[in-house]
Amino acid sequence: MTEARAPITPWNPSRSATARVKNPLPVPDCCPNCGSPVFIDSNSCIYGREHGEWPWAVMCTGCDSYVGLHPFTGIPLGTLATPEIRAARKTAKAAFNPLWEGDGAQMTRTAAYGWLAAALGIANVEECHIAWFGVDQCRAVVAAIKARGAAPAHRHTCHWPGCERAVPPAMWGCSPHWFAIPKPLRDDIWRTYRPGQEISKTPSEAYVAAARAVQHWIAQQQKGKTA
Ligand SMILES: [Zn+2]
Ligand SMILES: [Zn+2]
Repeated sequence: MTEARAPITPWNPSRSATARVKNPLPVPDCCPNCGSPVFIDSNSCIYGREHGEWPWAVMCTGCDSYVGLHPFTGIPLGTLATPEIRAARKTAKAAFNPLWEGDGAQMTRTAAYGWLAAALGIANVEECHIAWFGVDQCRAVVAAIKARGAAPAHRHTCHWPGCERAVPPAMWGCSPHWFAIPKPLRDDIWRTYRPGQEISKTPSEAYVAAARAVQHWIAQQQKGKTA
């Protein structure tokens, strides 16, 4: 047996990459947006030069719709999208991805998609892909994220300077830091705390003063250490 050396293309895709795509979408016979025939070609037709590690796309012959392919496969990443749909998907991703991606992540990617599917009423999480969504579903993503309350990008962390530990919104800080604070100061925080202030962003002046007193106390401790 000689090894096949034909280059990997959408017509000669990587078998392992193809096998990894769960719930593959077929290349459609025609554009879902205008009904014209579609074709696969280099995405340089779109961007002017090849873009990305797998520079292919499914494009429409009749309108400005296209979609990329899963790397090293001939499987579309989603449905062909018009400029309007592409913009809506971009907005939806920008709202949704911080839930599981980056420093402010609140959960794993799998958990985030599970949550999104439930929020949008999609029974099968394997069918919950923003690249499959139209404009209305993308708007529903943004609305669902907003309805979660505080923006995921603004995860609540311990107020101790330099401590990045995530804590529930109603709590001042992580327990080691919280209990490092003298009890009278802690009592002041609780006494002035108004339930829901972390959502309304309107703490009382007394709370702000108590929180400032805590920061002042911490600063004094740290000065003491370095002196
Ligand atoms: Zn079209
Ligand atoms: Zn802390």
